[in-house]
Amino acid sequence: MDNQEQLRASLCDVAIRLNDTGLNHGATGNCSVRTAQGFLITPSGVANRNLTPETIVELNMEGEKITPSDFNASSEWLFHKDLYLANENINAVIHSHAPYATSVSTLKKDLTPFHYMIAVAGGKDIRCADYALFGTQALSDHILKAMQDRKACLLANHGLLTVGENLDIAFDITEEIEHLCMVYLNAKKLGEPEILTDVQMEEVVNRFQSYSRWRKD
Ligand SMILES: [Zn+2]
Repeated sequence: MDNQEQLRASLCDVAIRLNDTGLNHGATGNCSVRTAQGFLITPSGVANRNLTPETIVELNMEGEKITPSDFNASSEWLFHKDLYLANENINAVIHSHAPYATSVSTLKKDLTPFHYMIAVAGGKDIRCADYALFGTQALSDHILKAMQDRKACLLANHGLLTVGENLDIAFDITEEIEHLCMVYLNAKKLGEPEILTDVQMEEVVNRFQSYSRWRKD
């Protein structure tokens, strides 16, 4: 397999894994990975369980198909492109409708540090991008603002977005944030969670930066 074939296979694997682990369902969400000329992205209107390497679409940074395909890119390709253009360290983007994270997204507020693993997103909170219609430039603009110095954000009344140096890291961050959102909703049933201080969160962020990747100690 050449690199392009490997990336297509990895993208299918991660999209199917999202469904298999309950982080996504049906044909919702979309995933992409950077290539030499642009990026590979999951197609529009194909259930994740039916994804194959042939259904994956390659776009350049103008959003044009590079390789011939009978399939169309996900309707949400715009924010994938804008994220790659905004940050050269981003090589993978995962957007899911993970049920707990999506539940929290409907509160339309930033997730404060009720747990130290909030720092998995790269800072002391996980921002919630303002709502806009899917597939629009407005939504992409809101996402880029919420993703400033972050590896993840919630999308108000919509879902979750994570990025990474590769697909595995973006998947792990998705899984971690979904768990955090489950804990948050459970804690809210008991009362108002205590919030860690800026100093406490700076300690965690600094500790994470000294690892090659964040850990789940
Ligand atoms: Zn979506």
